[in-house]
Amino acid sequence: MSENKMKRIGVLTSGGDSPGMNTAIRAVVRAALDNDIEVVGIRRGYSGLIEGETVELTAKSVSEVIARGGTFLCTARSTKFKTEEGVLEAVESCKKLGLDGLVVIGGDGSFRGASDLSKQGVPCLCIPGTIDNDISCTEYTIGFDTAVNTCVDCIDKIRDTMQSHNRCSIVEVMGRHAGYIALNAGIATGAMAILIPEVPIDIEKDVIVRMRAAMESGRHHFIIVVAEGVGNIDALAEKIKNEVGIETKTTVLGHIQRGGSPTATDRVWASRLGYEAVKLLLQGIGDRVVGVKNGEVVNYDIQEALKMTKSIDKEMYKMAYVVSTAGLERYKKI
Ligand code: ADP
Repeated sequence: MSENKMKRIGVLTSGGDSPGMNTAIRAVVRAALDNDIEVVGIRRGYSGLIEGETVELTAKSVSEVIARGGTFLCTARSTKFKTEEGVLEAVESCKKLGLDGLVVIGGDGSFRGASDLSKQGVPCLCIPGTIDNDISCTEYTIGFDTAVNTCVDCIDKIRDTMQSHNRCSIVEVMGRHAGYIALNAGIATGAMAILIPEVPIDIEKDVIVRMRAAMESGRHHFIIVVAEGVGNIDALAEKIKNEVGIETKTTVLGHIQRGGSPTATDRVWASRLGYEAVKLLLQGIGDRVVGVKNGEVVNYDIQEALKMTKSIDKEMYKMAYVVSTAGLERYKKI
């Protein structure tokens, strides 16, 4: 890494936690120390920054965190920081703490805050950390891979009992506005239907009729994966029970998806992105987000990044339907 004027930087986690945030903090700390930069850990996101709630981080203080879920710095949602007064207090706090820059690990909301701070003279580098993978400027967010694998593990277990009892199971996974977890977990568990906010679905045609056809072809157990943003899974269960004639159970996976030891993929990307964030700060670059594009580490201006859009891969969505039941439907048509 090149010569720099940075002597001391801060690192914080903000918004919803995700597995791999600890791994990213570790990478930031170690990359900074390698360049003789001191690192201050800020507890509870922007709330802790305003209140000066900090911990000095050494190489040793981040040992043993690589495999731990959650964030040992804790995270918070600060309403005060969303105000101009809050941002100015945070800037004062950075001055008092002697911070030359800040690494922020979080989602879009946290990036907006980091942009405000950068504009006030505190160079910030953002790292995408959220299980939802709903950050437009990057193909991948830290925690997504672990969350999908947790869902797959849970749905496989549900599938065992559905199979034994010839039942249908509707599993709700996280994703209020984004269906990435549902789509990937649904494909990986052979779900016969995947309901996500991005794709309108005809319940009659795409679920009920297909289930009836599949049942006539001899299939008697089904998994349906639904992103939480889609709506009422109990009403869907009732409809399936009445119109297809199969006992249907619902399971909401909930916060189990946010915890757990990060997968190798999450650990590797968290390390790469943490290292890259420090590398940019060292070059005097701030107001940027690091991310992944075509499998490479990239970075963008925060405001540019916030304006970007990304959409679900419709071909992938179509494929999920084909590989889950096409054979059975064809059998029915013959
Ligand atoms: P995430 O970073 O996961 O999207 P939030 O949206 O809850 O999570 O944001 C985390 C924190 O970032 C908030 O508590 C707030 O302090 C800050 N933040 C969120 N939105 C803004 C905004 N529009 N402007 C400035 N700061 C924001």
